[in-house]
Amino acid sequence: MFEDNLPKTSLSELGEFGLIDHLTRFVKTHQPTTHKGIGDDAAVINHEKEQSVITTDMLIEGVHFDLAYTPLKHLGYKAVMVNLSDVYAMNAQASQITVSIAVSNRFPVEALEELYAGITLACDTYKVDLIGGDTTSSRSGLVISITAIGQVQTDKVTYRSGAKPNDLLVVTGDLGAAFMGLKVLERENEVFKVNPNAQPDLEPYAYLVERQLKPEARKDIPQLLEALKVKPTSMIDISDGLSSEIIHLCRNAKVGANLFEEKIPLDPAVISVCEEFNIDSTTIALSGGEDYELLFTIDQNDYDKIKGNPNLTVIGHMTEEKEGMHLITRANQKIPIKARGWNSFEDANDKE
Ligand SMILES: [Mg+2]
Repeated sequence: MFEDNLPKTSLSELGEFGLIDHLTRFVKTHQPTTHKGIGDDAAVINHEKEQSVITTDMLIEGVHFDLAYTPLKHLGYKAVMVNLSDVYAMNAQASQITVSIAVSNRFPVEALEELYAGITLACDTYKVDLIGGDTTSSRSGLVISITAIGQVQTDKVTYRSGAKPNDLLVVTGDLGAAFMGLKVLERENEVFKVNPNAQPDLEPYAYLVERQLKPEARKDIPQLLEALKVKPTSMIDISDGLSSEIIHLCRNAKVGANLFEEKIPLDPAVISVCEEFNIDSTTIALSGGEDYELLFTIDQNDYDKIKGNPNLTVIGHMTEEKEGMHLITRANQKIPIKARGWNSFEDANDKE
């Protein structure tokens, strides 16, 4: 989304090295582990006794984002969040990122400055250092690839595979808002195409749109769990929707699960917009995706430590594998959980 009143400096005026210097001129470092950041052939990180976690994610214009309703600053911020969320899902803290972009010459320098403003804001807010990357040209759209690096004490690292029968299934925050924010933005974009003078009133949907355009990764949760002295037995972030993440935890640990519909945390804004769109809110929580909350399992003995915490909701428990994976509805019906999350090969929406 380019503001028409922005000056438009062509990328060729700066050249690749000039562009990197220009875009990273405000980059500061926050982490003692960043030994050498931008400016050499490679960055140097000093991790000493902790384990490193590394994750990478690629976002492609027209597949993962639409610039018709995604401001570039938000896109930069969100691209960082998607990666940090995966680091926190390992019970780790993120410390560095690298950012690579491929861009066509239809983007002026000022557009990339907006993108980097979002990336830099995310880095400063989450105390993560941008330590390198690459820029290259693309024939058509914009591609952003980010790699995030984090650290975790060896005995705290949490995988997808550790759940046991009778463990409690816990989720952070609330679910479904990001997907309904996308539905609202898509609807307003269709209205705009028909009538460019229509002014969208997004105020009633502010929370939903914010959750879609400017999600926040749960940096606080590994810290909270440490303070509560709880080590999850398994953990994953919710990028594709609750049902596919539950399936990941079950398959990796060879267990089953019972999920209670009445326990799924929904914001009142999600409930009301689902009524407006005539969509079932449980379906949205199960398969909407992009909430970037954390889903984890804990030993039942740890229940008292998390009980009543406003960030955490127990939504079910794990079972023996042979019992399968089920949603227990409000009407006490038992429905098998199926992966209905976005599938990159089905509808080109890879949100791992
Ligand atoms: Mg993930």
